[in-house]
Amino acid sequence: GVEIEFRSVTKKYPGQDTPAIDNLSLTVPAGDICCLVGPSGGGKTTAMKLINRLIDFNEGEILIGGNGVRDVDITTLRRDIGYVIQQVGLFPHMTIESNIGVVPRLLGWSADRIKARAVELLDLVRLDQNFAKRYPSQLSGGQQQRVGLARALAVDPPVMLMDEPFGALDPITRNEIQDEFLKLQSEIAKTVIFVTHDIDEAIKMGDKIAVLRQGGVLAQYGTADELLGS
Ligand code: ADP
Ligand code: ADP
Repeated sequence: GVEIEFRSVTKKYPGQDTPAIDNLSLTVPAGDICCLVGPSGGGKTTAMKLINRLIDFNEGEILIGGNGVRDVDITTLRRDIGYVIQQVGLFPHMTIESNIGVVPRLLGWSADRIKARAVELLDLVRLDQNFAKRYPSQLSGGQQQRVGLARALAVDPPVMLMDEPFGALDPITRNEIQDEFLKLQSEIAKTVIFVTHDIDEAIKMGDKIAVLRQGGVLAQYGTADELLGS
């Protein structure tokens, strides 16, 4: 992983009176999972989209491994950042293997290399190899989310942005996939920002927890023990 740093970042959407993110400074050390929690509308999703430049900020700077996100080209950002969202967002007309290959294709990997990588990734996320040729609609929600995770990990990016990744799953499946991700993370050591509504999930998943107040102000940042005062 690499360090992610927000340096006095402000984002105001056009037509909004108050910024969605107001002067946010936050450093996530390389290899940590930082859980981002806070009220709905607190700017969590906005913060994620600013990092991967789906949207741009007004003031400040966001650095990944010391490089400003505005200074690297979009293809490099797509290579360096895996993005996982609650809605998964697999392409319905594409097989699982093709879905997993989206970013590798963008980077010009050969078909053989993508096929070989898909085999590794299905193993990594504990899906049977015969899923490769299936379509998303033939998979359960939990299986689709595993594919989402595989797709995000395809080119082995140092950074993972996970926006309520397990929020749509039933409690048992969620618990399972949380455990699997933590196990995986102990091997791959990505720098992870993990958005969740669920404080129990934040305590379980996060090396540190960042609480964003309404208006995208950092209210608290620390380990679960520090924040809960135990
Ligand atoms: P969270 O993820 O914490 O629920 P968001 O980042 O989605 O918060 O939203 C933060 C604030 O920005 C909210 O007030 C929301 O209404 C506003 N917002 C989000 N997206 C847009 C947009 N595309 N245009 C205008 N306002 C937006
Ligand atoms: P080449 O493109 O010449 O094969 P590399 O194998 O070094 O060069 O790959 C270039 C980039 O692709 C590197 O950033 C590397 O981390 C990444 N990469 C290579 N092989 C894999 C793989 N099997 N899985 C994920 N990422 C890979």
